[in-house]
This record gives sequence, C-alpha cells and structure tokens, in this order.
Amino acid sequence: MTRPIPRGASSARPRSGGSREPRPTYQCDACGHQPPKWVGRCPECGEWGSVIEAAPGPVVSGKVVSSRMPAEPARPISQISAAPAKARPTHVPELDRVLGGGMVPGAVVLLAGEPGVGKSTLLLDVAQRWAEAGETPSLVVSGEESVSQVRLRAERMGALHDELYLAAESDLGAVIGHLDAVKPGLLIVDSVQTISTGTAEGVSGGVTQVRAVTATLVSIAKERGIATVLVGHVTKDGNVAGPRVLEHLVDVVLHFEGDKHSSLRLVRGIKNRFGAADEVGCFEMHEGGISSLSDPSGLFLTRYSEPVPGTCVTVAMEGRRALVTEVQALIGGTVPGSPRRTVSGLDSARLAMVLAVLQRRVERLTLHDKEVFAATVGGIRVVEPAADLAVALAVASGGLNLALHPTLAAIGEVGLTGEVRRVGAVPRRLAEAARLGFRFALVPPGCGPSSTGVVPDGMRVEEVGDLRSALQWAARFSAE
Ligand SMILES: [Zn+2]
Repeated sequence: MTRPIPRGASSARPRSGGSREPRPTYQCDACGHQPPKWVGRCPECGEWGSVIEAAPGPVVSGKVVSSRMPAEPARPISQISAAPAKARPTHVPELDRVLGGGMVPGAVVLLAGEPGVGKSTLLLDVAQRWAEAGETPSLVVSGEESVSQVRLRAERMGALHDELYLAAESDLGAVIGHLDAVKPGLLIVDSVQTISTGTAEGVSGGVTQVRAVTATLVSIAKERGIATVLVGHVTKDGNVAGPRVLEHLVDVVLHFEGDKHSSLRLVRGIKNRFGAADEVGCFEMHEGGISSLSDPSGLFLTRYSEPVPGTCVTVAMEGRRALVTEVQALIGGTVPGSPRRTVSGLDSARLAMVLAVLQRRVERLTLHDKEVFAATVGGIRVVEPAADLAVALAVASGGLNLALHPTLAAIGEVGLTGEVRRVGAVPRRLAEAARLGFRFALVPPGCGPSSTGVVPDGMRVEEVGDLRSALQWAARFSAE
C-alpha cells in the first residue's frame, strides 16, 4: 500500500531506498487514545499532559507476504481435542461461579479493583488450591510486595505448599525466565502495572508499557497453555489505571469490589469469553484470609425479636443471584433550612426521588423539613430501582411509626406519580425470599400470581399498583 505524498513534501529531503521516515504518532498515557497531533489535554479522557509521542508504528514495506511452512498443519475439526479448552475448577467456589466453571488453560483473566481491598489475598488462595490439586505448580509473581511479605500473608492463611512458587519481579524478561524454570499451570501477576519491559517505550505502569507486557503475557499463555491472572489496579474513577485498553486483550475481565469498612467482597464478571458475563461471586474477608459465601442472603438482614418501625426488606439482584436485603430508614427531627439526606449503600438520587413522591402521595407524612437517613445492612450496595418500594416503605414505616411485618418483602420500582413499576426476575426474587422464611410479598402489577401463576409455598403475594395500596397492604399484613 502506498500513501499519497502530501504536496510540497516530496522535494524536502532526498530519501534513499524508498523508505520513508515515519510520522510521529501521539498517544494518551492514561486512556490509550491516539490524537492526530500533540495536544495538552486528551480529548478522550480529559487528562492534562498525558499525551506523549508514541513509538513509531510499523512502516509498510510494500513487500509481498510469501508462503511459509506452518508450525502445525490445519486439521479436521473432529480430530482436534477439546480437552485443553476445558475449564479447570479453582476450588474457590464463588470464583468458579463467576468464571463459569474455572480457569481455562491458556486463558488470561484480568482482575481489576482498588488497591488494598483483598485481590492479592484471594489470588494467593487460588494459587494454593491450584498447587494442592497437584497437576501443575502455580507461580505468583509479585511486583508490589517482597517475597517475605507474601510468605507472611500465606502463613496467616495457611497457604504454604511446595508446589506454590513465589517470585518478586518487575522485569518482564525475568518473569518469562521464571516461567521457563517453574513451568506452572497457573500464573498470577500482581500487578500488571508493576511489570515493565525494555522493548517498549514509556514509564512503568503507563499505557504503552502495560499494553506491551499484557500482549506478551497473553501470547505466552496461549502458546504454553498457562492459565493466567493479571491483577490490575483501578483508579478512583473506576478505570483500570490507564489500561481500559487491556480489556480487549484478555479473555475474562472481573471486577473486585468491596469497601474497606466492611468484610463483604464481590467479584463481578464484566467480560467472559467462556461463559456468562453477568455472574457475581460473594466473599468474606477475615483474619485468616478470604472465604467464599455461597449463601450470603442472610448477611444483609437483621433478625429482630419484635417488629421495629423504619425497616423493610427487599430482594436485590446481583448478577443472576437474588439477595434478600434489608433497608433501614431513620427520620430525624425537624431542622430549619434544607435538612440532610444521608445514604449508605443506596443511591442518593433515588432516595431523594422516593422521598419527594412519598411527600406528595402520603398525606400523613411530612418529610420536607426532617433529616432522613437510609442504609442497607451488611455493607451491600443496592442501586437498582427494584429497591424503591422497600426504601419507600422503610421511610413511611419510620415516619408513621408503624412496624411492618418482619417477614414482608417489597419489590418494585416507584414512579413519579407514586405508581409501582414492573421489574425483572420477580419469580427468582420471590423464591429466594420464601427460602429464607418470608411469608408476605408486595410486587408490581403483572409481576405476581396474575401473570406467572406461581407463588412460592407458604407465601402470600400481593400485586400493588401504587404506593398508597402498598402501604395499605403492609399495614394489613402487620395486623395479622
Ligand atoms: Zn486520554
């Protein structure tokens, strides 16, 4: 392919052998965007001073590609073994759930999350279990911590195994050297931003470096059939630091979520070439490490000895899993000016909307001059609209000093006119509530027995069209 020579450029300098000096290219070190010319601020991500001159791209030589002997001949599909592509369980049940069965040899997983929430702990557990399974060794490459720091943590977790290898390394070439020596079936790189290579430009941790390191590790993983996990640190705004660009290079992208003040951790599938991408795994951090929570529902509830006003239970969907979750609300005293609305684990905009609707539609409630606090229990974050009805009932219950029935669950989105709107997965939500012993449920019209005809055993399900009838039913249930 020949590019047209810009007018006036051809006579500038004589060129030898037809080769042309490549034009400089520019790239944002934060997001990987390539602006056509240098700019002080990246038009893509808005970062200042992040655009640098990138290494010149390959120059098109104009030579014709000639045929060469392939390393392996093409074979009929029926003769190709499917075994290497089968997932191998990590024996960490909640991680296997998100991965869709386990780690696939040769597949590369990016585990992204904020620093210090427990990614390394989880992966050390995975490496230990892999080693224990005894087929191939596992190798943890730590660019963040020294080997003795990692060993200390492994000791606390009881994760010492002779087939679990450890190396502190920040150079890609040396990492490959370790791969040659250990021949692991599982490689964990913690984190990909700390590994650098002399073959690429840019600072360690920058887009160019991280992309080069990842591309090399991906091709080695494929070539040698090594299941690989790359840890990627995420910046405050939720980007895998720089490497949004990594997401298309790897097979699986998982987000590790959790708050330092709570012991709950979620691993959320974002992309999965081998299975469903909307799964969520639940974990609990503790002194001795991290454990899978196969049945987390009860964690997000308080068990009261007698009914208390200001609380209502809903069933939230995390991925494809239903979690029975309690919402609590406290209505404070009357304050002059604009009173505070404080949320924890809920969406503050949705709370403000629900409060405004309650104020308009429920005559006996005055909220506009009172402080309102609303929270979930157990550190879970519920931002889906399906929790609106429970938030509304918790606030109304607090404001009217009316305790709801302790085994009532409310599911539904609340609209601006106070109508209760349909939400998805109602049968699954109801089944989960029934499993935990809930006997009453309020659901949107058309989502209950009238459409599905299915009501879990021992449960009474009412379809409610608006907030007012939801409150009436809630009051009637409490009297039973
Ligand atoms: Zn940018």
